[in-house]
Amino acid sequence: MSKIHNFSAGPAILPQVAIDNSIEALKDFAETGLSLITVSHRAKEFVAVMDQAVANAKELFGIGDDYDVIFIQGGASTQFCMVPFNLLPINGKAAYLNTGTWATNAIKEAEKLGNVEVVASSEESNFNFIPKNYSIPNDAAYFHITTNNTIYGTELHEDLDVNVPLIADMSSDIYSRPVDVSKYDLIYAGAQKNIGPAGTTMVIVKKGILGKTGRNIPTMLNYETHIKKESMFNTPPVFPIFVVNETFKWLKSIGGVEEIYKLNKAKAQLLYNEIDNNPLFKGTAAVEDRSIMNVTFVLKNDSLDADFLDYCKNANISGIKGHRSVGGFRASLYNALPIESVQALVDVMQAFSQKFG
Ligand SMILES: *Cc1c(COP(=O)(O)O)cnc(C)c1O
Repeated sequence: MSKIHNFSAGPAILPQVAIDNSIEALKDFAETGLSLITVSHRAKEFVAVMDQAVANAKELFGIGDDYDVIFIQGGASTQFCMVPFNLLPINGKAAYLNTGTWATNAIKEAEKLGNVEVVASSEESNFNFIPKNYSIPNDAAYFHITTNNTIYGTELHEDLDVNVPLIADMSSDIYSRPVDVSKYDLIYAGAQKNIGPAGTTMVIVKKGILGKTGRNIPTMLNYETHIKKESMFNTPPVFPIFVVNETFKWLKSIGGVEEIYKLNKAKAQLLYNEIDNNPLFKGTAAVEDRSIMNVTFVLKNDSLDADFLDYCKNANISGIKGHRSVGGFRASLYNALPIESVQALVDVMQAFSQKFG
C-alpha cells in the first residue's frame, strides 16, 4: 500500500502505532488469548485500560482531582442536549456563541430545554470569523463555545475569561494545544477528530456543578450516572476507548501537548504561507481566527476545482475536498498528521500553479 496523506476532517488520521497496537489487541488483548472486542468490560484487563485512559487524559491536560473525566457514547451531538439537561435550570437562561454549524446545532438543542441567548454570531458572513465584542448576561447559567469550527476553519486560540461558567465543545482541537482546564466547567469532545475512532465522547466535568437544575434527567443523559460508575454504568465502547488510550500514550511519548502544539503551529504556518503566496489560492477564514486544525481555502477560479482534486489524488493526497457549506478545500491537520504530508500538499499546490497559473 503506498503512503496516503490523510487530510480527512473526521473520522481522521490516527498515529500508526495506535492502529498497530489496536490491531494486536483485536487479535490478543493483553495476553488474555482473547480479542479485545470479545471480553467482558468488567475484566480486570479492560478496567485497567479505562483507568489508564482517564489517567492519561488528566495527565496530558494537567487536570486535577477537582474534575471527573468520563468516556460515553452518542457523539458530540448528544452533548448538545446533555449540557442543558444537566446545567440549565428550569426557567434559567444559557448563553451561546454561534460560530458555525456545530454551535448552531448546540443552540437548537438548548432551545428545546430553556431560554437561550445567542450573544453573538458570525452567520451573516458564513462563519468566517469568531465574534469578539459581546457581553454575556450575568444571570446565564453558562456560556457555551465551540473552540474550533471544523467546517469553517476558525479557532479560538486562547482560553476565554468570562463572567459565567464556561462550557466548550473541543471536538476538533482537543489536545492540539495546552488548555487551562481550570477556566472551564465542562469540556466535551467526540473522539473521531483528534483522539480516536468514532464511538466515544470524552467529557471533562468540574466537580460540584451537577444536580442543580431541578430537572428529572433521563438516566443515560445524566452525567452523574456515568461519573458514579466510572463510565461503566452500561457497556462502554471498549474498542474506541482502547484506541483513545493508545493515542494518548503516543502523544505522551512525543512530549505531550506542548510539543504537539509547536508541531501543529509549524504545519499550519507551512500551509497558510502557501495559500497566501500562491496566486491561484486564497484562504476563507479571517486571518486572526485561522484554525491550526482545519485549513479552509479555495481556488480563486473555481472552475479549476476538479483539476486540483485530480492533482491531489495523483499525489496520494486524500480527504481534501471542502465541506459543502464552504466549498473549495479543507485540509485537516490533526495531531497525527506528519508535517511531511503538509509539505506534499504544498508541493502539489506549487506544481498546480506552475501549470495553471
Ligand atoms: C464533528 C463535530 C461535532 C459532531 O460530532 P459527532 O460526534 O458526530 O456528534 C460536534 N462539534 C464539533 C466541533 C465537531 O467537529
